[in-house]
Formats: sequence, structure tokens, C-alpha cells
Amino acid sequence: MAYISYISGPVVRAVLEGEAAKLYELAFVGSASLVAEVVDVSRDEAVLQVYENSEGMRLKEPVRFSGEMFSAYLGPGLLGTVFDGIQRPLNKMGEKIEKGTALYALDTETKYRFTPLVSAGERVGPGEYIAEVEEFGFIHRLMLPPDREGVVAYIAPAGEYTVKEEIVRLEGGFSMSMVQKMPLRIPRSFAERESPKVPLLTGQRIIDFLFPLAKGGAASIPGGFGTGKTILQQTLAKWSDADVIVYVGCGERGNEMTEVLEEFPQLNDPATGKKLMERTVLIANTSDMPVSARGASILLGLAIAEYYRDMGYHVALMADSTSRWAEAMREISGRLNELPAEEGFPAYLASSIAAIYERAAMVGTLGGKKGSVTLIGAVSPPGGDLSEPVTRNTRRYTNAFWALDRELASARFFPAINYSQSYSGYAESLKEWWMAVDEKAPALREWMLSLLQEDARLQKIVKLLGTEALPEEQRLIVEIASLVKEVFLQQNAFDDIDAYSPPQRVLKMASMIKTIQQQWVRCHKEGRIPVEVLKSMPVIEAFVRAKYEIPNEDLERYDELHERIVKSYEKLLQEYGR
Ligand code: ADP
Ligand code: MG
Repeated sequence: MAYISYISGPVVRAVLEGEAAKLYELAFVGSASLVAEVVDVSRDEAVLQVYENSEGMRLKEPVRFSGEMFSAYLGPGLLGTVFDGIQRPLNKMGEKIEKGTALYALDTETKYRFTPLVSAGERVGPGEYIAEVEEFGFIHRLMLPPDREGVVAYIAPAGEYTVKEEIVRLEGGFSMSMVQKMPLRIPRSFAERESPKVPLLTGQRIIDFLFPLAKGGAASIPGGFGTGKTILQQTLAKWSDADVIVYVGCGERGNEMTEVLEEFPQLNDPATGKKLMERTVLIANTSDMPVSARGASILLGLAIAEYYRDMGYHVALMADSTSRWAEAMREISGRLNELPAEEGFPAYLASSIAAIYERAAMVGTLGGKKGSVTLIGAVSPPGGDLSEPVTRNTRRYTNAFWALDRELASARFFPAINYSQSYSGYAESLKEWWMAVDEKAPALREWMLSLLQEDARLQKIVKLLGTEALPEEQRLIVEIASLVKEVFLQQNAFDDIDAYSPPQRVLKMASMIKTIQQQWVRCHKEGRIPVEVLKSMPVIEAFVRAKYEIPNEDLERYDELHERIVKSYEKLLQEYGR
């Protein structure tokens, strides 16, 4: 029997004693049968990562190899569930799991309504849809695993079944229940990758309009402690127009996850009116849980995300924070005595980060539908230094980069996205989508970006000499930019009305600020009216307040306000100085 020959924290070496071990195989280590994965193997020795608290484990204790790859359990019952990093369900946070508990990922008692889509004698291909199952009124499409095909020998008749019962058998003997196991490290196959052309709408103006993310794209949120990464991730989980949300809390404080757990079940999904939790899978590998399972928690999230993607759904996966995962990788690498590279991270840091973000995709599924996985990873650079290795490498593989800024956060400017440092490579491919909403949208975006750029330049002078030092034309730009910042970019995640801005609202607000600018320029040119007077008009006050007062169901009130603005300045121009 294989036994432990070396222990360094969660890293264990085992002498094989003639037994066979496979790379990435599930194993049980020690007398407590702790869940572990083989991460390296030679002829007579295996290296394992233990995914449970390994205190008390001793040399010479037995190691048992399962013969199966370390896998995710995929099937109905994932939605609405909270798992730890190795997919054991946590009914409530803080609940202690018995050490060495065998994996029992999915509830085996619930009966799901099942409707077959194929019949006996039919040939089915890899990833083809074989049945529909009702999971919270959500259509869960059962698929043949991507590596199987054959002729149906038996398919269960319509009815209610648990995940334990056999529902399909192929000629030749392959049989499955509603659950399939997928090795954690292997991306699920699809028919074809498509270019991302549809936005993941988040309801956050600065994101959707200035630095958009596409469905099937990847974004990163770097930011120091307290800059709002977690709140932003949670806001995106609440409001994104994805069908399914997978939220991975990785190595962050447990009480943050508790907030999510308490809040989500109360919240209604704006799209369906149902409970948000019914389209959400939470994976909690918090800071008090084993460091070694952080990597597994992200891979588990990806496996679940790709599973729903292949049913033809749009999935958004949030990981908070990927830095904690990278730090775990650094620790494990050290214990494996690998040669450290930059800042102690292993040389494969970049390729590991790439391997995660490359799994963001818009695809044609094997079953003939369209689905996507969008990835949003928070990064916590120590000291907020964006040039550190994890942030730098994440930036290489994420096309949207939302840099959170300490100064903005201290000024309670939220979301604290620094508009000079952030960017999105998706803006171009989403142009057509926005044009379909409003032809002028791309031009409006360009206008806003260049206004902010001009403002950033002028702010340097303002900082030194104050606004008074600027000539009126430039003062006007600074004041308009300040409207953009305060009214448009700033958005209160906790305000009932302001929390979510649909594209129509975004466009109305942006075009109003542009109108205000045009009016000011005209009043200034034709009437020599000082900016001080222009900005103190009551309509401006009304416009500032409107984002907290005009609900999304009442957007015509914005049009009325728009007219009022034009009229007020026309009147001012006629009357001023008389
Ligand atoms: P991080 O995860 O980067 O450490 P948090 O997301 O926990 O930071 O945010 C820190 C605090 O900042 C929050 O407790 C909250 O008070 C405030 N905050 C962050 N984002 C927002 C927001 N969008 N609206 C209002 N307050 C926010
Ligand atoms: Mg946080």
C-alpha cells in the first residue's frame, strides 16, 4: 500500500510501493482519508496536494488512489447551492465539514422533472442534448458527455427522477444518471469559437458605455484593499444580464461571503423576478479554508460555467480574488522546491493565468446552440502597485481592464474605476450593437472619452493654480467633465434607482451632458455669460438629482428634462445682461 514519505504543509510525497498513480488523479491521504490530487508522478513516487486541513497527518500513513481523475460533479442541483473549493455543499457558511468526507456534491434526494429529447434506437453525438430537466423552472439541458457517442439503448420515460437513477444507456454499455463527472483541468469541448459581439450588460454606466465587456470576454478588476473590488463583483453578479452566475470567493475573508450568502437569497433577479440565488452557484474557499484548494475552487467554477454554457446559456464567472490563488500557487511551488521566478512566483505564473482567462469564450455548442462564459477576475496588487506580476500578467490576458483607484475610493467616488488607466478592447466589436440601439452612441462615447482626456490634462493646472487660473473656455471643459464624473460615472450601488442603468438611460444621460455643453458654449460665445452663472442654473441641479429620482420605467421624464435644459439656456441667453 502506498504511504506518506514526506509532508510539507498541504504538499505530500507518497511512496507508491508498486501501485499506479495518474497525474491529476483523485486520492485520499492519511488515516483521515483527506481529499487530495496527484500533481506529479514518477515511477515509484507521487506528489500530492491535500485539499483539506492536513494538521495531524503523519508519515507512513496510507495513501489511496481512486483510479479517477479529480473531477467536478455536474448535473441538476448546482444552481442555488454553495460549495467549498472541492465541491462539498455548505448549507451555511462556517459549517464545519467532517474531514475526509467523501465527495457528495449534488443533492441525491430531490426529484427533478425529466423530459427525454431522444428515443431508443436513435444515434446521439458528443454533447448532444438528450433530455430537459426542470431545475428551479430553469431548463437544464442534459447532454451526452463531450467524449461519448452511440445509439440509445434505453432512455428513461418522462417523469420525476433523482440524480442517482439511470436515465440513459447506450448500446455497448455506457450508462449515466443526470450527473456527469468532468475532469477539473480539461476545458469542455465545443463546436466552434465565435467572436464576441454582444455586450454583457452590467447596468454600470462607466463599464457598459466607456469600458464595455463582451459576452464571452474577460475582464480584470485590479485594486488595492478597500477600493471596492468585492462590491463591484457583487454588483456585477446582481445585475449582469447573464443567465447563470458562478461566484467564486477565493481566499478572501469569510464575512464577505456571508454577506453574499445572506443578501443573494433575498434579492430578486431583475430579468426574471425570481430569486437571484436560483441562477447562481457560489463557491466559497475563504481565507480560513485550505490554501491549497484555491486553485481547485477556480477550476471548479470554470467546469460549472462551461457546463451551463454548453446547454446554450450565457454564464458570467466572478473570481474574488485571483491574487489569493496566485499566492497559494507561490506557496505550493515553494514547498515543491521549484525554482522561484519574479517575486517568488513560479515561472509558470503567466501560463497559469492565461490558462484560466483563455477559457472565456462565446461558442457554438456541440448540441447546436450558442453559449458563453464571461470571466471577471479581481486582482489585489499589494500596495495597489499595478506593475506587480499577477496584475501585469492578468492584464495581458484580459481585454477589459477596470483599474480601481485608491484616491477615488477615499473620495467615496464609486465605482472607483480610474478612467485614465482603464480600457476595453471590446469597444470596437460592440460598436454595431450600440449603433443598433442608437446610431449616435459610438460618437457620444468618443466625445465623452476625449472630454475626460482633456480634463485630465487641465486638472494638472487646476491642481497647481486652481480653477480660477483657467481661461473661461477651459473652465467650461473642466465643469462639464465634472458633471460627467459626478453624475454619469459615479453610481451608487446601494441606491434603489441609481444602482442599475439600462443602455437607454445611459444614452439619455450622456447626450444630455453633451447638450449642456453645447448650450454653455453657445451662451458663452454669444452672450459672454460666465461659466459660474451657467453652472448655477436650477436645471443643472435638477439634472444632478434626476439619477436618484427618475426610475428606469419612467425614462421619458429624462426627455422632458432635456427640453427644459435647452429652453432654460435659450431664455438665459435672451435675458442675460438686460
Ligand atoms: P475591496 O474588495 O477592494 O477590498 P470592498 O469592495 O470591500 O473593497 O469595498 C470597500 C468599501 O467601499 C465598502 O464597504 C463600501 O463601503 C465602499 N464601496 C465600494 N464600492 C462601492 C459602491 N459601488 N458604492 C458605494 N460604496 C462602495
Ligand atoms: Mg474584497
